[in-house]
Amino acid sequence: MKLTSFDPSNQQALGRVAVATSEQVHQCVQTAKVYQQQWRQLPMADRVEIVHKAFMSVSPYSDELAVLLSKEMGKDIDRSTSEVRGAIFAGSHFAKEAGAALSPRADGSNISYRPLGVCAVISPWNYPLAMAVNLIVPALIAGNTVVFKPSEQTPLIAEKFVAYLNEHLPSNLLTIIHGDEEVGAKLVEHEDVALVAFTGSQAVGKKIMKTAAASLKRLVMELGGNDPMIVLKDADLDAAARFAVASSFENAGQMCTSTERIYVEKSVAQTFTDKVVAIASYYQTGCWDEPNAHIGPIVSQKQVTKIIDHMEDAKAKGAQVLLGGSVQHGNFFSPTVLTQLTPNMLMEREETFGPIVAIAEVDSVAEAIMRANDSDYGLGAVVFGQAQARDVANQLEAGMIGINKGPGGGGASPWVGAKQSGLGFHGGVDGHRQFAQVTVVG
Ligand code: NAD
Repeated sequence: MKLTSFDPSNQQALGRVAVATSEQVHQCVQTAKVYQQQWRQLPMADRVEIVHKAFMSVSPYSDELAVLLSKEMGKDIDRSTSEVRGAIFAGSHFAKEAGAALSPRADGSNISYRPLGVCAVISPWNYPLAMAVNLIVPALIAGNTVVFKPSEQTPLIAEKFVAYLNEHLPSNLLTIIHGDEEVGAKLVEHEDVALVAFTGSQAVGKKIMKTAAASLKRLVMELGGNDPMIVLKDADLDAAARFAVASSFENAGQMCTSTERIYVEKSVAQTFTDKVVAIASYYQTGCWDEPNAHIGPIVSQKQVTKIIDHMEDAKAKGAQVLLGGSVQHGNFFSPTVLTQLTPNMLMEREETFGPIVAIAEVDSVAEAIMRANDSDYGLGAVVFGQAQARDVANQLEAGMIGINKGPGGGGASPWVGAKQSGLGFHGGVDGHRQFAQVTVVG
């Protein structure tokens, strides 16, 4: 059976890949299991060198990969170029960073980091390279082999990237298989998969956890978010409005840490909202290669339907739409600003994943904090303000909290979700070590 990949801007078929049968999933895991016994014997320095070099070798293909990424996922060429280059850099950089984190400790302790075995990496479509690389690299450096299943929405870019990597990696170290949830589930339930490293939705994360429970597989799960932003009355309102629009519209709103809901203190709400509308009005939708197109297509009809449902629900419950609010054509959704967001709306409760700035005016800082925290999600959160900003940030229930900037520290900070936005995490010394078995000898 074949899986066809479509350009979300015009629904034209871009190419096809073979869907893995149950037998092929089994074979891939078995082969990865056999090769893992060799890979784990290599000294850490050799593993790092091999993975680092493989990523560097992809560099000459950056432009070609960026075009394919844009066509398949819909983001503009600048964003695709930075994702491709970022993935190459992250791969080569994390190889070294993870190598240091997973090497025998120099502190005289009796702790070491042993490989787990075969790792399943399952990734989403919104950052199809970045999300995969973040998990594949620490898994390999830890001495595991990887069977990678990318999203069924973006199989071609994953296939191409892995093919270039595999020109320089030993055979059977990194294997790619394709398919939808059925193939993903087959991989997760395979008895020889020791670790499932997953980035995707909360709903699928729960299914994976249930399946993995049968053999208590190790899990690293980076899940969905519904990120709040709080705007305090002493905030720089120009900066806050710029951030609110850019973050809500980033990747057409299809980013796990996009701003999904904004709580602004009443005394500055009107000024802030006016600024947001003025900035948002400059944004235009368009295809990846159109200049001045800031917002690409929504990846699939399923996602478009979800955004429409959230909009209709919000309007029925009293939201005021100040800009946009509907599908323009095909998968293109207008840049949207709405106010009077309330806690009973789907848009406040769930991840909408569309280009929408959703604003609620609050009577007090306490109300803003209460509503920000009244959620199962806890990925990122943002506070704009001065005197109280840090105090407010300290009360927010999220894994990554930005003060007057976006969440996520970058550098050697972990990428981590709190509450139901994640289980385990990656990045940084502690993140890399989750791809190994901590072992105490002596
Ligand atoms: P998704 O959960 O629908 O799918 C993700 C992957 O899981 C796909 O490859 C899919 O085929 C696979 N899958 C589906 N059902 C499965 C099952 N039962 N068993 C095993 N695999 C299965 O997510 P999506 O729509 O591709 O991506 C968007 C979601 O990802 C959003 O919720 C977003 O917030 C989240 N995300 C989170 C982060 C983060 O770092 N926390 C980053 C990017 C995206």
